[in-house]
Amino acid sequence: MGIAFLLFVLCAQALADDWPLHGRTWSEQRFSPLTQINHKNVSTLGLAWLFDMNTVRGLEATPIVRNGVLFTTGTWSVVYALDAKTGKLLWKHDPEVPRSWSRKGCCDVVNRGVAVWRERVFLGTFDGRLIALDAQTGKLLWEVNTIDRTKPASITGAPRVVNGKVIIGNGGAEFGVRGYVSAYDALSGEPVWRIYTVPGSPDGPHEQPELEMAAKTWSKTGEWLDTGGGGTVWDSMAFDPELNLLYIGTGNGAPHARHRRSPGGGDNLFLSSILALDADSGQMKWHYQTTPGDSWDYTATQHMILADLAIDGKERKALLQAPKNGFFYVLDRTDGELLSAEKYVTVNWASHIENGRPVETGQGDYSREDKLVYPSELGGHNWHPMSFNPDTGLVYIPAQEKGWVHSPDNFYLFDYNVPHIEQLRRNQPAVEEGGYLIAWDPVRQKSVWQVKNATFINGGTLTTAGRLVFQGTEDGYFNAYDALTGARLLHLYAGTVIMAPPVSYAIDGEQYIAVMAGFGGATLFMLDDAAAAMKYKNSGRLLVFKLDGTNVPLPPVITASPSSPAPIMQKQGDERIHQGEKLYVRFCGSCHGMFGSKSILPGLAGMRPEIKGTSKNAIRGIFRDGNGKVRFSVSFIFNHLRD
Ligand code: CA
Repeated sequence: MGIAFLLFVLCAQALADDWPLHGRTWSEQRFSPLTQINHKNVSTLGLAWLFDMNTVRGLEATPIVRNGVLFTTGTWSVVYALDAKTGKLLWKHDPEVPRSWSRKGCCDVVNRGVAVWRERVFLGTFDGRLIALDAQTGKLLWEVNTIDRTKPASITGAPRVVNGKVIIGNGGAEFGVRGYVSAYDALSGEPVWRIYTVPGSPDGPHEQPELEMAAKTWSKTGEWLDTGGGGTVWDSMAFDPELNLLYIGTGNGAPHARHRRSPGGGDNLFLSSILALDADSGQMKWHYQTTPGDSWDYTATQHMILADLAIDGKERKALLQAPKNGFFYVLDRTDGELLSAEKYVTVNWASHIENGRPVETGQGDYSREDKLVYPSELGGHNWHPMSFNPDTGLVYIPAQEKGWVHSPDNFYLFDYNVPHIEQLRRNQPAVEEGGYLIAWDPVRQKSVWQVKNATFINGGTLTTAGRLVFQGTEDGYFNAYDALTGARLLHLYAGTVIMAPPVSYAIDGEQYIAVMAGFGGATLFMLDDAAAAMKYKNSGRLLVFKLDGTNVPLPPVITASPSSPAPIMQKQGDERIHQGEKLYVRFCGSCHGMFGSKSILPGLAGMRPEIKGTSKNAIRGIFRDGNGKVRFSVSFIFNHLRD
């Protein structure tokens, strides 16, 4: 055996042992080639070590593991470097995100992780900064602002480093921003390129040539002129080094309702789209819009997977996505050609995809009356990453079945708040609502097996060459399934809601599975009755498992269940109450929980009696004088009320 071959074997093993990139490889398959933990022995899996994050909000990060060090993030964009074998903290970096910034995010102060490249750690902070840290010490190397700080923008996604450039987007389309993605030089932090996903105005001038074409798909009037249109790039990316194409997913429109955003219609390019960009220049090579003229928060920011598949006897370089709109897409990633698209959950807004476009049924048109639409705004699949196992050829999707009532004024309604829900359900599909783990065959476009979870929103998935699929759940379990059959092989109680995707790595010949545990995110406001956070304190923890490990110590039991009283449905039709609800959702809900929902957030139902007694002066005091936690501008709120 030559030395070169020996080095090759050693390097290949080191790569197999690590989890060096967000999706382990550029293809984002979230597949680990490690086999020590497998379908025959996974039932003996137990805790190797845990790290207490000392947090009570959502944890969504994918840890990066390289050369024995595990890098992860917690709430408020704090970065941790740990010894991946022992859990010993090596360093911690707190970017000191202003706590008032939480009002600028729709979906909790979460972070999905870092990128590591050439002894540098890259992080997007909740308040829109991109920072580089020394991987050895956590010391700040450089920091740049990536957003207009007067706008409600935030970063929760993980950056990627491609060809020496750090790629980052941001969120904010729920409250109104214009979407873009940027590249910065990884060594210096200097900006390299920025690509906008929607036009800045109907008539230009346009920053990129394709925006001229996109502008023709937007109306000349409408709320998009004030909101920026949306289409933010807040999570999903993948990279094909051979094609030198960077794939990004874009989000929903601002506001969601197209009849308000762009009256008269139009596809509103490039909302809810998959864009292929030249990784060096950012130049757009192709686009595919999954939901033309999106009106339902059907983002295409869901996890994308690159895989080479034999379709109709031909090897295709495919890109796979299960966006919120309920269809599973297989595209040719060289040119964006649609190869196939089928429903992976119940869908009633469109009947099927024809000539690359969804055929709308009319059930999604809520411009004149309330409509029950499947899937809900939470999507058939949300940000929780899916995974692809090249051995089984299956994609493991954390999915959910649910409908949602949309109203003409674009105001969110939870179905338990809709008095005429039974009437709206008439003639609509009978759906067994809930969370599902679906093993999907992307070639035949059908489910091979599926498991119904006990709770609605569950964790991202990991699949391994040990013929396994791992997933955490909202009711506090860490599960493993036979990747071929769906038989449950592990049902380990952690006592903490798990939303994040697990990763796997090996050190000194021992394989580990690691996952962040902590409830929060977009569903922070709607805790399931069976959620672990109803019973135990929502203690944020990094859990790391190995064969023959120990039981997971449970967090402290909570004495009072996190709940708020049911909404009082009095004075139906009173416009002031309706406007009050809107104000609450817009300005209070992201810190105090949505009305009528169960939440781990401090609800206003428990506020001091002298304030709760609707004393106008006390309420004014909170807003004007800042004797509550944050200072609000009364004039800002009431200006908004006049809209
Ligand atoms: Ca959204």
